[in-house]
Amino acid sequence: MEMPKLVLGNYCYWINETQDPEEHGGFVPSIVVRDESGHFPLKGKPPCAAPWVWGKTLDEAKKVASRINYKDLGLTPEAVDEIVASSMKAQTETHRCEDCRAEGASDDWECWEGTFLCLECYEARVARMKRVPPEWL
Ligand SMILES: [Zn+2]
Repeated sequence: MEMPKLVLGNYCYWINETQDPEEHGGFVPSIVVRDESGHFPLKGKPPCAAPWVWGKTLDEAKKVASRINYKDLGLTPEAVDEIVASSMKAQTETHRCEDCRAEGASDDWECWEGTFLCLECYEARVARMKRVPPEWL
């Protein structure tokens, strides 16, 4: 899953409560984007960057998250809740594939320039794109 473009006011930091704090020595924050299902853990890019750890305990990490959401992103706790709620809603929403018209939940789907495609149709489109002679690109 690729992270969508981040626009101030449309994303927030969020602590996934179900993560294993032993794995990275604390709680790693994630980015949640409005109307996008799922979340993007800030794990860094090994080996150069270590994951962000915002607290040894869930409580600590949540406090850091709400402080940074407010200080850096200008989001009140209510605004954060709203973004998280819209992301959860997006996860359960069903979509119809533009190409084959099949229906499914958005988690297994891909977005192609604003339209939803099932994984098969998405891959078929990618394969078609790749057949374009290189000098056209
Ligand atoms: Zn399809």
